Amino acid sequence: QQQSNTKMNTPNPPHVLILPFPFQGHINPALQFSRLLISKGLRVTLIVYAEITTELTQGQLGSLAVHFLSTHDDEEEEPAVQAGGFGFLDRFAKTVKKELPRVACEIERETGSGAACLVYDSVAPWALEVAREMNIPCASFFTQPCAVDAILYSYYEGRIRAPITDKEEKFRVDGMAEVSLAVHDLPSYLHDEDDEYAPECLALLAAQFSNVAGADWVFCNTFTALEEKIVHWMCNKFRFKAVGPTIPSIYLGKQLSSDDTCHEYGLSLFKAQHSPTYLKQWLDSQQPKSVVYVSFGSVASLSDKQTEEVAAALEKLDRPFLWVVRKSEQDKIPPGFVEDTSDRGLVVTWCCQLEVLAHASTVCFVTHCGWNSTIEALSMGVPMVAVPQFADQPTNAKFVEDVWGVGRDGEEKAMARSEEIEWGVVEVMEGERAKGIRKNAEKWKTLARAAVADGGSSDRNIEDFVDELVNLQL
Ligand code: UDP
Repeated sequence: QQQSNTKMNTPNPPHVLILPFPFQGHINPALQFSRLLISKGLRVTLIVYAEITTELTQGQLGSLAVHFLSTHDDEEEEPAVQAGGFGFLDRFAKTVKKELPRVACEIERETGSGAACLVYDSVAPWALEVAREMNIPCASFFTQPCAVDAILYSYYEGRIRAPITDKEEKFRVDGMAEVSLAVHDLPSYLHDEDDEYAPECLALLAAQFSNVAGADWVFCNTFTALEEKIVHWMCNKFRFKAVGPTIPSIYLGKQLSSDDTCHEYGLSLFKAQHSPTYLKQWLDSQQPKSVVYVSFGSVASLSDKQTEEVAAALEKLDRPFLWVVRKSEQDKIPPGFVEDTSDRGLVVTWCCQLEVLAHASTVCFVTHCGWNSTIEALSMGVPMVAVPQFADQPTNAKFVEDVWGVGRDGEEKAMARSEEIEWGVVEVMEGERAKGIRKNAEKWKTLARAAVADGGSSDRNIEDFVDELVNLQL
């Protein structure tokens, strides 16, 4: 295994503040990006806005300092973050604007080094102003793939108008004109007129581009080989750097430290009812390449009917499975299902997904195609059966099947159907098509590892950023 170089010997390395959007799918890449910067010798403090994350405690995750911000605003006690609703957005912005400069001063007093840069989640573009007021450089961090960025940028610039009402329309988007996109392949907020939150979500996503040209760097959790043309297109527009996959390096054949695992360095908003050891023992007890892993991530909420469809598919498949159904969703599981399938299946409220994807007994991933799940599966060579729900998931699913050739996408988006899941699993496991999918999955796995290996494209981009930051400090 390669060891990463820590090339910086300065006693006072630049100190970077990293501000993720307070959702699991944004915290994970920010956390791992923090760790990559630390491995290059920087100091990093992760600033987590925690309204409902009371189980998390402030402190250190290895060399990473984590600082939790919370409102403590009693009149505004609305459980918001994972429960939907937009009330928390204002509180998030208000709290960060008020607290971040103070936190930066505190950190400077404690560590002797002032903040050298603010890396903020791209959906919090107002953070650029906060950085300017603090008089420090800043970087916008995109946690969706470049393909989605390019589509949303087209919307932001007025080349795509929403809501799209002609459902037969086809789209070719600047930066990826070779891919023909049907309406249902686009991010759902552009066309889903039944989604009451669509206008607000779209506004949030379009705002990512409002001032991004003014950011000193623009990072994205992707890697050049995966989205080569779009990455180059983005590089021509912005000070863009693909820095992904931001996954704990141990899963990519490169160890940053001896205890570099998901469990040691995770920051989970959800509690797993089983210990990692229990889960590992269960996976170890299964045949190699036999377990169907099913998860819809941290936000998507399947209807009762859709949950029944997933359960029916797992029953009919008659194979070992591991199904993540968050605590809040467990009531939707059909009665008797857990007991009836307990000889071959495990239903858990949460797990360390990376451990599952990396395990030799996992054969495929039935996924909602959130970007983290998608890039994690791509990086670990696990074929996918896409059951996208909303947001960027349909676009990611389209790319999984048609561009990267690593799985099957459903016929109808936002719809889990028993037969489709069943066929999907069989198709990615058996027959000629499965051979091609497995070959592609291996190819992307190799390329993901190459991107983060010393001297790989993402590794170099991170080193360039570090060098630029060090030079700014001299
Ligand atoms: N995840 C996990 N355990 C689970 C389910 C998900 O650790 O049981 C992690 C997963 O590895 C990924 C993140 O949660 O990093 C989900 O992000 P994604 O972008 O895939 O979906 P979202 O939750 O944002 O819809």
